[in-house]
Amino acid sequence: MEQTIFDCVIIGSGPSGFTAAIYAARADLKPQLYTGLEPGGQLTTTTEVDNFPGYPDGVTGPQMMMDLQKQAERFDTKVYYELITKAEFSTETGGIHKLWAGNKEILARTVIISTGATAKYLGLEDEKTYSGGGVSACATCDGFFYKGKDVIVVGAGDTAAEEATYLAKLTNKVTMLVRRDEFRASKAMIHRVENTPNIEVKFHHELIGIEGENGMVERAIVINNQTKETSAIDVHGIFIAIGHQPNTAIFAGQITMDENGYLKTIPGSTRTNLPGVFAAGDVQDHIYRQAITAAGSGCMAAMDAEKYLAELA
Ligand code: NDP
Repeated sequence: MEQTIFDCVIIGSGPSGFTAAIYAARADLKPQLYTGLEPGGQLTTTTEVDNFPGYPDGVTGPQMMMDLQKQAERFDTKVYYELITKAEFSTETGGIHKLWAGNKEILARTVIISTGATAKYLGLEDEKTYSGGGVSACATCDGFFYKGKDVIVVGAGDTAAEEATYLAKLTNKVTMLVRRDEFRASKAMIHRVENTPNIEVKFHHELIGIEGENGMVERAIVINNQTKETSAIDVHGIFIAIGHQPNTAIFAGQITMDENGYLKTIPGSTRTNLPGVFAAGDVQDHIYRQAITAAGSGCMAAMDAEKYLAELA
């Protein structure tokens, strides 16, 4: 029997993947969506989502993802709870792309990559214990819960500086833990940190433990890596801002990426360097990283895929 060639295969199940599916399905592309190992993506690890337009009372991350999936399936999206492990893309316009989920081979005219990015954590057992109870990797998502309280930001790059200045507006005090004697962030961001009175920067400090009650953070245990002195800081929130890792390993060598592994798209579109291969969401965006911006680019990817197929016909 001849193998089916699908018009549109979507890799990833965050807001960009499901939004791409909704648009592709409504354009009759019969999208086949592979969820990956974490169906729903990063949002399933957050609690309340209060900044997605259209939910006046907020919504939990997992609920929002279930709603998005339901909406995609209502329009003939086929969802597979499988991980794409290998890809071989055609470099020809109109070529057929090959994907594998384990031993299963999948053929597609267009592929939308929305595999997202994974926030890096320090690797402490306590981070897992207090995940959802004060440990977060997204100030825009969770900062609101710490109004008037004290928080810690770990990291010294642009993300950490941005998170610290954002949190400083909401919280009583932000302590930044920087492991070296200097920031990695840009001069402009360092300047903003230095000019925010309620941010205290502790150079040469690292987080080594977290203590709390009933799964809620109450204090951070930190070490001065020069003097080896440890101390406790009373806080309710701990924001880990040490970078994200885009989930692009299986595309290496085929799709153009930036130096951090993010897929590059042609400005103003979701097109990658390969015809019929599109990228949406955090996998191609290290700056905004919001559910709404990911959803927006998912919509763009489906429209770009539809246009590409129409031009082939
Ligand atoms: P970066 O990789 O730039 O910075 C990561 C930071 O985390 C570094 O300061 C690093 O310390 C620190 N770090 C890493 N591991 C540990 C650890 N185990 N313990 C303590 N600290 C650790 O990541 P960002 O997410 O900040 O930025 C990624 C990219 O996105 C950059 O190119 C950045 O410029 C860009 N960006 C741009 C923004 C904008 O333009 N508005 C906003 C956010 C990001 P060390 O310095 O010692 O290595």
